[in-house]
Amino acid sequence: MAYESELALRLVPYTAGEQPKDRQFIKLNTNENPYPPSPAVEQAIAGLCPSLRLYPDMEATQLREAIARVNGVEADQVFCGNGSDEVLAFAFAAFFAGKKLLTPDVTYSFYPVYANLFGVEHQAVALRDDFTVDVDAMLQGCPMALANPNAPTGIELPQCQIRRMAQHAKDNGAVLLVDEAYAAFARETAVSLLSEFDNLLIVRTFSKSHALAGMRVGYAIGSRRLIGALRRIRDSFNSYPLDRLAQAAATASILDVDYTARTVSLVVAARDRAYTRLRKAGIDVLPSATNFLFVKAGEDAAPVQQALRSEGILVRHFSSARLKSWLRVTIGTTEDMEKVTDALIRLIKG
Ligand code: PMP
Repeated sequence: MAYESELALRLVPYTAGEQPKDRQFIKLNTNENPYPPSPAVEQAIAGLCPSLRLYPDMEATQLREAIARVNGVEADQVFCGNGSDEVLAFAFAAFFAGKKLLTPDVTYSFYPVYANLFGVEHQAVALRDDFTVDVDAMLQGCPMALANPNAPTGIELPQCQIRRMAQHAKDNGAVLLVDEAYAAFARETAVSLLSEFDNLLIVRTFSKSHALAGMRVGYAIGSRRLIGALRRIRDSFNSYPLDRLAQAAATASILDVDYTARTVSLVVAARDRAYTRLRKAGIDVLPSATNFLFVKAGEDAAPVQQALRSEGILVRHFSSARLKSWLRVTIGTTEDMEKVTDALIRLIKG
């Protein structure tokens, strides 16, 4: 006998990037936004303290209405959760438990963790040599889940390929989950496919494009049927995943469309400039449609990561065989990007 359940002993948890407590770093390791949230957020939460004695609106009605308006869907097609991690977890329970799920082998590393937690059989489909998703190989089964743009590669799959996957899943009575955590920095989104596919679930986050990683707000958009299943899972777990501050902050943030567009375009401009400089220096970088770059830094990129750390710059390294030569560098301010690009060129090219 053990105190722990068999499940607790068997789980292999997700490892999040370092959140340093003491030293000041240029922090480019967890894909946060370098700019503060919209000023409307501060106003929205300023007077809320007295109301915190009351439970929040469990349906996050105002927030869902705001998300629906900005995305051109109905409020009952929107589900909100405590970070998109929670929305993803609920989706795994609602649509994949007891089934065999296909995901790319290189993608958000929380997917295999949720698969393990919720009794999902997981088949990892190898990316092609150029790190793009092998759609033909994905179509060998369903349901399917993928991040688009993908992480940590940053590469965007065109919507015609998402459509192929949605159709294949629909033909087989299964869900396609598209994690659009980084779509605000990309060319396309799958939202326009929702009117055709009641089996398509799009998951988004306020942590990247809306600079609210500290608030923990994510959402899903999909058909009423899919949203209903997510609500059943939520109400079997925690009726109030989003507190009052988070609902007010996220509502103010998503309605400030101009501010988001401005800060996203600053990030995209800094990304494209860093990409061009690294390429010109002869460094291998994948084309990014996100707020990070995936940069090749030698056979094993760990020493470059350590050298950057000692210079006060944090970036992310993954030690698996396929990824160990690469570093994921979050896009910071224009100034931060000049510093990290200079350092990368010096450390990689000597
Ligand atoms: N999906 C992807 C692809 C991510 O990279 C992340 C960030 N780690 C998330 C989801 C989770 O974001 P959050 O829980 O902060 O909304």
